[in-house]
Amino acid sequence: MSASVTHVAIVGGGVTGWSAAAMLAGRLGEGVKFTLLDIPEKGGESPRCQASLPSIRGYNRLAGVDEVDLVTRGGAAYTLATAYRNWQGDGGDHFLPFAAHGFMLERRDFHGFAAQQRRRGDSTPYDHYSVAALAARQGRYRPPSPKPGSLFAGLDYGLQLDTAIYTGMLRARALAAGVEVVESALAGVERNALGEIEELCLTDRRAPLKADLYLDCSGRCARLIGEALAEPRIHAGDCMPADRCVSVTFTPDRPVPHSTLAALEQGWIYSVSAPTGTEATLYFCCELIADERALALLRQWSGGNEKEDGAFRAVSPGRRRRSWSGNCIALGEAAQSLDSFVTGPLHWAQESVVRLLQQFPASRDFSRSRDEFNRRAALEFEHRRDFARLHAWLGAGIDGQFWRRAAELPVSDALQHRLDLFRQRGIMPFYEGDPMPQALWISLLLGHNHWPQERDAIVAAMDPGWIAEQLERMRTLMARAVASMPGHDEYLRYLVQSKKQNTGT
Ligand SMILES: Cc1cc2nc3c(=O)[nH]c(=O)nc-3n(C[C@H](O)[C@H](O)[C@H](O)COP(=O)(O)OP(=O)(O)OC[C@H]3O[C@@H](n4cnc5c(N)ncnc54)[C@H](O)[C@@H]3O)c2cc1C
Repeated sequence: MSASVTHVAIVGGGVTGWSAAAMLAGRLGEGVKFTLLDIPEKGGESPRCQASLPSIRGYNRLAGVDEVDLVTRGGAAYTLATAYRNWQGDGGDHFLPFAAHGFMLERRDFHGFAAQQRRRGDSTPYDHYSVAALAARQGRYRPPSPKPGSLFAGLDYGLQLDTAIYTGMLRARALAAGVEVVESALAGVERNALGEIEELCLTDRRAPLKADLYLDCSGRCARLIGEALAEPRIHAGDCMPADRCVSVTFTPDRPVPHSTLAALEQGWIYSVSAPTGTEATLYFCCELIADERALALLRQWSGGNEKEDGAFRAVSPGRRRRSWSGNCIALGEAAQSLDSFVTGPLHWAQESVVRLLQQFPASRDFSRSRDEFNRRAALEFEHRRDFARLHAWLGAGIDGQFWRRAAELPVSDALQHRLDLFRQRGIMPFYEGDPMPQALWISLLLGHNHWPQERDAIVAAMDPGWIAEQLERMRTLMARAVASMPGHDEYLRYLVQSKKQNTGT
C-alpha cells in the first residue's frame, strides 16, 4: 500500500493558485497540509476582469466565497449572456444566454419549432425567445426565482469578476482553511530517480520545500511542468489567426449584465464589465496590423476614456501534452491557454481544480488518477478548440484578410460533423467530455442564422396555427416578464444598500 498524500505544495499565487488553495484546503480538511509558494512583488498576468459561466456559483459555494459579499465589495457584477456584435459582417447583434431558449412543446426541443416557424416566413430573432437574452440586451437583472413554473426560474447567470478582488477573497478563504504561505521564489527543482519532483529549492537560503504532490500554478512560465519536467506543449494556434492582443480598461456609463464579443475587420474584441471598470481586449494578427493601429482601433471602440495605456501580450494557444506528469499537476495557464469566447481563462482553471478534487489521490500511487485526469483534460481542450474554431467559421462573412485567413484554417472531423448534422437535420451530436452545454452550440448557430435545412418530421406534422400561437404567447410572456425586471445597476445598488442596512455601516 502506497503512503498517503499528506502535503501538497502549490507554486504560484495568481488567481489559479489561490482558487486551488481555497477549494482543496477547504474541502480536504486537516488530513492534507497545503503550502503555497509565491513571489508577491512579481504578480501574475491575468486579465483584470473575467467573465465566468454559471458554474462559478457552485465553485464559490464549495470554496466558501460568499457571492453577495463579493458583489457588494465591487468584486463582481452579474452576466446573463454574451453579446455577439457583427459576427456576420452586417453590424447586427445577437445575445447568447447561458440557459436554453424557449420551452419544450409536446416533449420536443424548442429549436425545432423555431426552425419550422422560420421556414414559414417568421423572421423573429432567436434570442427573442430567451428571458436572459432579452434582459441582457436591455441591461436588466434579477436573481432566478425559486418558484418552479416561474419565467424567472431558469434564469441562469454567471459573474463578471474583478480578478484582484476575487483573488483576495479566495486567498482569505485559503488562509482561513489553514494554507501556509511561503513568500519566496522558486530557484530550482530536485528530481528523484523516477524523474519526479523530490523537492523545491527556494531563494533566500530557505530550506527546500518537500511535498507529496506539486501543483504548478505559475502561469505562462510553467516553472514545474515546463521548465523542470520539460513536458511538451502542443500548439493550438489553428483555431484563430490571432497571435497578439492588446487590452485597455475604461469606465462605462453603467455596468452591463453581459460580456461582449465584437468582430472587427482586423480581429475581435472581448470585453468584460466588472463594477470596478470594463476591460476590453482586441485580438489581432501582428502580420496584418501594427500595434499602434490595434490600440487606436480599441480606443475608438471603447470611446477613448480608458484609465491607462494599452497592455500588449503575445497570444499562443496550446496545452501541455500531459497536464499531470509524475507527481506534478499543472493548473491554469501553466497547463493550457486558449482564446476566450463566452467565458474567460479562470473558468477553465477552476474546472481543472474541480476535476482534481474529484479525483484527489488518497495514496501516492497516482497512475490511475493521473491517466484519467489527463484523458479528460485533453478531451475538454479539443472541444474548446472546436468551439473557438467555430467562431472563425461564423465570421466567414466579414470583410478583410484576418477573416479570410480564419476561413482557411482546418476544421476537425468532430466540428465538421457537428456543423453538417446540425445544418442538415437540426441535431447536435453528443460528444464525451464536451464542456460546452449543447444548448450553447445550438443557440450560437441559430443566433447567427444557420438554420437546419430539413424539417423535423414530428414538428412538421403538427398544426401550424397551434405552433404559431404557442410561440407568439412565449414571446409576449417573456417580453412582459423582462419589462418587470430592475436595471442591472439598480439591482447592484440595492444589494449594496441592503448590506449597509444589515451591517449598520
Ligand atoms: C489581458 C489578458 C487576456 C488574457 N486572455 C486569455 C485568454 O483569452 N485565454 C487564456 O487562456 N489566457 C488568457 N490570458 C492569460 C491569463 O492570464 C491566464 O490564462 C490566467 O488567468 C493566468 O492565471 P494563473 O493564475 O494561471 O497565472 P498568473 O496570473 O500568471 O499567476 C502566476 C503566479 O505564479 C507566480 N510565480 C511565477 N513564477 C514563480 C516562481 N519562480 N516562484 C514563485 N512564484 C512564481 C507569480 O508571481 C504569479 O503570482 C490573458 C491574460 C491577459 C493579461
